[in-house]
Amino acid sequence: MAEPQTTASMTTDGILRLTAENRQSIAVLKCPTCAADLKEVELGDVFLVGLRCREGHGFFIATAAPNAAVTEKAHGIQGSYSSHAMESEIIHAWLTEEGLRRYLNTQLAVTLRRIAEVGVKPAVHAGEFRLCPFCTGTLAEDGTDQSGWSGRYVCPNGHIFYLRSGLYWKMNGQVVDLCAEFDDEFVMRCAKFYLRDDIRSNVPADVRRILMTHLNVK
Ligand SMILES: [Zn+2]
Ligand SMILES: [Zn+2]
Repeated sequence: MAEPQTTASMTTDGILRLTAENRQSIAVLKCPTCAADLKEVELGDVFLVGLRCREGHGFFIATAAPNAAVTEKAHGIQGSYSSHAMESEIIHAWLTEEGLRRYLNTQLAVTLRRIAEVGVKPAVHAGEFRLCPFCTGTLAEDGTDQSGWSGRYVCPNGHIFYLRSGLYWKMNGQVVDLCAEFDDEFVMRCAKFYLRDDIRSNVPADVRRILMTHLNVK
């Protein structure tokens, strides 16, 4: 899995819009770890589509990626919830109110959601990218393409992908980046990362408090 990072992996340009056509294309994807059907699940995050297979391999696809120039201002942003709001209400607000969610880097938003899910939802296993999500053929690394893009993978049926944040491809003219759900260990590493002083401006004060509580930091 990639190291924690503050910069959004892409801008909103060309990112997947949830048209009926794209929803249909997502609905037929197979788990790239075990080849079972992937079913859409509600994640409680307005910018993400969640996918799970029956073995519990978890993935998500971002439908919007907040701009780094915006997420840098996160620290000064305050939600409109009451000052007595419970942690679960605060997390819910940051993930579902678009005016707040747009200040959260995708990785921070996933970390926050996974913190809220622990012990509440069934454990998810971070999926791996072994199989083609279209035809379940085994993916093989194929080096660099003519335009200089590295991390190219192909399946025996000629479906082409790139390994970026997750498995990345173009669909109906837009970008799909199928990312592996964060496992508990990676959630902890991200929580620690987002408490670093040098990226304090990227983390809303209320979110910072939640990370500190989770990590038992005073
Ligand atoms: Zn699976
Ligand atoms: Zn394939």
